[in-house]
Amino acid sequence: MKKIRQRLGWKLFLSYMTVILIGVFSLAVTAEWHAPRALSRHMDNMQMMMGDMDSGMMLSLLEDFRTAINEVLFLSATLAMITAVIVSTFVTRRIVRPVQEMTAASRRIANGRYDERVAVSGEDELAELGISFNRMAHQLAQTEERRRQLIGDVAHELRTPLSSIKSVMEGLQDGVLPADPETFASVEREVSRLQRIVRDLEELSRAEAGELPMEMRPVNPADFVHTAVDRLRWQYEDKNVRLTETISPDLPLVKADAARMTQVMLNLLGNALQYTPAGGEVHVHCSVFQNQPGNKARCPLGRERCILIAVKDTGIGLTAEQQRHVFERFYRVDKSRARAGGGSGVGLTISKHIVEAHHGRLTVTSPGPGKGSTFTVWLPV
Ligand code: ADP
Repeated sequence: MKKIRQRLGWKLFLSYMTVILIGVFSLAVTAEWHAPRALSRHMDNMQMMMGDMDSGMMLSLLEDFRTAINEVLFLSATLAMITAVIVSTFVTRRIVRPVQEMTAASRRIANGRYDERVAVSGEDELAELGISFNRMAHQLAQTEERRRQLIGDVAHELRTPLSSIKSVMEGLQDGVLPADPETFASVEREVSRLQRIVRDLEELSRAEAGELPMEMRPVNPADFVHTAVDRLRWQYEDKNVRLTETISPDLPLVKADAARMTQVMLNLLGNALQYTPAGGEVHVHCSVFQNQPGNKARCPLGRERCILIAVKDTGIGLTAEQQRHVFERFYRVDKSRARAGGGSGVGLTISKHIVEAHHGRLTVTSPGPGKGSTFTVWLPV
């Protein structure tokens, strides 16, 4: 019994058998009940046409008829059973084999072999299951790859400031470096950098887990744009990059965490400043975007109307390939330059998560390297 419960093949075979047995049984009952009447009706007709018939002859005719029916039933039941065995073996093989393959592949994946895939043939539900299985395996492989990459990246990020601190310490111990404020300031800079990396990592892991605390309230988007612009204005003046803004009056309110959205704006404006050379310009634009019949540009939130906040710079720009990757964690176009500038490459990743937690989108466009870029926040009204 346990074997039958555990084997799909046996279950299929038994279900065929049940159908055959019910068929044979109902045929037998019907024949037993209906055939003698039909036969005796036929005999009555014959008697009318041919005159009286011997009753013994009639009985033997009826008996012969029954035997013939039973033989036919027995023969066809045997044939049906043989067919059931053949068909169930074939169907079982067709169904069970892919399932068995998937079971084996999932065991191998569980053991860490993420490149496992199953062969998919046909277009039925089993093929669909196979395609879904392969897609799941592919996503698992990607997650694993990202995890491995993350550990590598974190180790790499920590190694640089740690080795700087170590070499300064060794320099101090050997008397090569003087124990003056400048040396201590350089150590302090590296320690701050370590702290920033750890803080960014904490924030990143919370953002990726969707656990960033948010206090959603109706706010005017102009508020967080102004806050960020005001906070960075002197840094722009310092570097001689012009910062301008156009903010539509009477913007509708959005449901947002003002502090988090300010953080996003600080990241975008900070990046724009960092990647725009002196003499350049950064423009912040905030308005309501409305889909227009003749206009190809569409609100990416699938709505008719949304809030658009664009930060457009005249900086180093991005290639199409770089635009695809800027939101990935630790992605930096120019590693050495960004490191010197203090970026850890997770700012945009966190910003993207924050915007998405507001049911919005963060997008980037750039005409190409050297031609500036535009980062756009789309928020639902
Ligand atoms: P970082 O801390 O390195 O700035 P981000 O996640 O904020 O990290 O940005 C990731 C990378 O995207 C940057 O290292 C830079 O290469 C690129 N990037 C971001 N903003 C701009 C911009 N306005 N212009 C050109 N490149 C940019």
